[in-house]
Amino acid sequence: MWRMKRIIVLGLVAVMLAVTLWGCGIETPQVQAPPGKSGESAVDEVRSPAVDSQPSASELSVHFLDVGQADSILVVLPDQRVMLVDGGNNADGPVVVKYLERTGIKRIHYLVGTHPHEDHIGGLDDVIEAFEVEKVYMPRVAHNTRTYEDVLTAIKARNLKVTPARAGLIVLDDPGLQIEFLAPGSSDYKDLNQYSAVIKITYINCSILLTGDAGFESEEEMIASGADLEADVLKVGHHGSRYSTSEEFLEAVSPVYAVISCGKDNDYGHPHEETISRLAGQAARILRTDRDGTVIITCDGQDLQVKTGQSSGD
Ligand SMILES: [Zn+2]
Repeated sequence: MWRMKRIIVLGLVAVMLAVTLWGCGIETPQVQAPPGKSGESAVDEVRSPAVDSQPSASELSVHFLDVGQADSILVVLPDQRVMLVDGGNNADGPVVVKYLERTGIKRIHYLVGTHPHEDHIGGLDDVIEAFEVEKVYMPRVAHNTRTYEDVLTAIKARNLKVTPARAGLIVLDDPGLQIEFLAPGSSDYKDLNQYSAVIKITYINCSILLTGDAGFESEEEMIASGADLEADVLKVGHHGSRYSTSEEFLEAVSPVYAVISCGKDNDYGHPHEETISRLAGQAARILRTDRDGTVIITCDGQDLQVKTGQSSGD
């Protein structure tokens, strides 16, 4: 039934321009065809792009920030509560803070560090210092780095506590709106990536799955857990690594959109060919921050809208 949705794609030409927020410098809109899938039937309506990326009430909006080879995802819930999942690398902290400020964010109700690698938690100390934060979630695993210590120090300085992210933990269970952790399902992985907090957000008929850098091991556990993995939008695990996003997992998720957060010409060769072909096999429409810039997906509870080509604002 998801496939029957009216899906609207809005393409924005990226504009890097002077600081004025509104009005100036927006170029002629272009519809961006996804790589290798031009003319796909999922796109059946095109609108002029809105200059304003401020979230509107009664909409769920998910912003996959273009933070290069890293992750940072802003989720604005229909009641305007805010979740931030990861904060990019250390150097991205000010970029993320600025983007949130520009979006009108004052308070972060749920802050998630998916796992302690720098490309996920690096900018979180800046975020914690800049905004009122209510709850912090991270998997129960330490990492002996300055970056990790900086985040813990910022958390302590704000008198916050870390709630351990783990499979089955429910963040929110309101009528029509649920947020739940689907991973990590274990507590003794060899690979830090497998500790990644995986979050499923469901708003009426829209669902989004954010997987951090979870790989095959965690994916197998999620499948075995019997959790409902199906989602319209999948944040592809581990920047599109070949060791993530197995065929079985993809079948279970069956995404309409697959968003890959990665840097242009990154050292890891992300996203890997194998992942791209597995996604193509599922006919998922691929969006990539290295090509599409910041990707914003909104849902009114029924229909999804996609905007690409936004600058993350630095
Ligand atoms: Zn990563």
